Amino acid sequence: MSSSSAPTTQDAAPPGLVDRLQALRDGVTSAAVASGRGADDVQILLATKTISPAVIRAAISAGYDLIGENRVQEVVAKADELADLPHRTHLIGHLQSNKVNAVLDHVDCVQSVDSVALAGRLDRRCAALGRALDVMVQVNVSGEASKSGVAPDAVDELVAAVLAAEHLRLTGFMTIGLRSDDRSAVRAGYAELAAIRDRVHGSGVPGARRAVELSMGMSGDWADAIAEGATMVRVGSAVFGARPPVS
Ligand SMILES: *Cc1c(COP(=O)(O)O)cnc(C)c1O
Repeated sequence: MSSSSAPTTQDAAPPGLVDRLQALRDGVTSAAVASGRGADDVQILLATKTISPAVIRAAISAGYDLIGENRVQEVVAKADELADLPHRTHLIGHLQSNKVNAVLDHVDCVQSVDSVALAGRLDRRCAALGRALDVMVQVNVSGEASKSGVAPDAVDELVAAVLAAEHLRLTGFMTIGLRSDDRSAVRAGYAELAAIRDRVHGSGVPGARRAVELSMGMSGDWADAIAEGATMVRVGSAVFGARPPVS
């Protein structure tokens, strides 16, 4: 059978996918235990940008029910095809204010809140819908201009705005790590995010104690992120294979 006629309704997994998922789970479990945490304390979020609904369905069916998408268009386009399979979707890419209305029906958490303006927009939209929304604050710990996220010295202002927003629940913090072979430099960024989380969590501000998550670590560096306290790693290419380059 040619791959173009592969069944989608049976959620058949592409060759090797289930093994790669299991290997990732085993590695994440070992790293969690090695960092003094429980085997189940680190969640795996599958970064599914560019991945077809058929492949995502196979991963969800194998028990990996937390997915992350970068683009609102892609979230919306895939939503119908995943609707019958229980799963959670997080937005992990930059969210433009004019896309807020389109995405809210399809996501359980927006991890990429990076401005007071966006927090305000999300809060007002949730108020109109009569719902609450889990969010994370995305911090640019690497300082690389290409990375989105609020600068560390502007985190407090953004956190205050999110905690004050009636319809937003701050669940934690997200970052995209430094892209470097210098593992100690990468780890320093993750340690910085952990310190921000600890400071906010212990601040005594109403709602701050719910902010426990550290979403950090990708295919190349999830073990280092877990060593620095990651509670959620976001992995794509290590399980799905290389993506086509972004245009
Ligand atoms: C693509 C992406 C990931 C996963 O990257 P891989 O290197 O493929 O594991 C994680 N987080 C974000 C925000 C991404 O865009």
